[in-house]
Amino acid sequence: MVRLRDTRSERRLVDDYGLRVEDRFQPQGDLLHVRIQSDEDLARLQADSRVLYAEPNYCYSLDEVSQQPQAQWALPKVQAETAWQMVPDGPSPIVAVLDTGVDCQHPALTGNMWVNVGEIPGDGIDNDGNGVIDDVNGYNANADTGDCGDAYGHGTHVAGILGANGEVKGVNPRARIMAIRIHDQYGSTNAAAIARGLRYAQQMGATITNNSWGGPKAAYSIRDSFAAFPALHVMSAGNAGKNNDFHAHYPGNFDIPNKLVVAASDRNDGKPSFSNYGKGHVDLAAPGEDIYSTLKDGQFGPKSGTSMAAPLVAGVASLVATAHPDWSPAQLRAAILGGADVLPQWQGTVASGARLNAVGALSQPPTPAPPR
Ligand code: CA
Ligand code: CA
Repeated sequence: MVRLRDTRSERRLVDDYGLRVEDRFQPQGDLLHVRIQSDEDLARLQADSRVLYAEPNYCYSLDEVSQQPQAQWALPKVQAETAWQMVPDGPSPIVAVLDTGVDCQHPALTGNMWVNVGEIPGDGIDNDGNGVIDDVNGYNANADTGDCGDAYGHGTHVAGILGANGEVKGVNPRARIMAIRIHDQYGSTNAAAIARGLRYAQQMGATITNNSWGGPKAAYSIRDSFAAFPALHVMSAGNAGKNNDFHAHYPGNFDIPNKLVVAASDRNDGKPSFSNYGKGHVDLAAPGEDIYSTLKDGQFGPKSGTSMAAPLVAGVASLVATAHPDWSPAQLRAAILGGADVLPQWQGTVASGARLNAVGALSQPPTPAPPR
């Protein structure tokens, strides 16, 4: 790009340097886009008294943050890839994702969805006699139907963090995901829908649940539904930036066995401002900021929240359960906590003072169930 002191010098300058004029810019008229013969000509043009300035045709790029799948920072942070080598072949436990539903046809999820083998899809008949018609990949506990698809766009992201296997990988790429849709299309749910969802998950054999939702109300019906279900229940701590020891967040604050309540950590193992915490009611931290995963309608994208941290813990629990199929929920819980990386910045912030580590969890010896 060349700007002349005087447009009348253009013809002589073009001849002198053998320039090819590609374009002229108005209203200046003296600003030219030219092709030069050699790189040395640029320096000569810059020194020429007829030229105000001459500069390369600099390149510019979009000011967007990279959102490519390789931006999956959470997996190396929790040493997931190394952990996969430590898990023998074998059946993966059923993890029930209680959420807004799951896009079960998503290319990165469809192979890892739990399948109800007793149900024939789309025939309008409850073939397995469990009370739900055409419940192939899970249950819509909000509408009491077999349609567990994701109308809202939260559960698909959560499920992918746990167990995607495609363009994006979850923390357990061999997970078995049962979609339990408890929310309506606006993202709201209620105690009856949650109780129905937990009852179905228990009845159909889930041994781990992921609960990336919560609220300030202590519904005894929800507490009792969790307590009666002998699975490992993973729960998000909430996104109000508050201490759950003083501002209760349920279901995490319920006094029930075999729960793990998860705060969010960032790339530098700090606490993002949104994450709830509390050494009395939050167990550990896991990555939960800018987490890349599956989105409904076959898409991919990032989301942030303790909703994203909980499924990393549920997924690592499913890796440990694959390696140790006889371990109880209490033993899985102890392995997750015992194998987490203790970090000074989380001391006094969460009960374990630690952030999830999959290799650590898989390296734990069996422990007796901690008394409660
Ligand atoms: Ca059925
Ligand atoms: Ca059927």
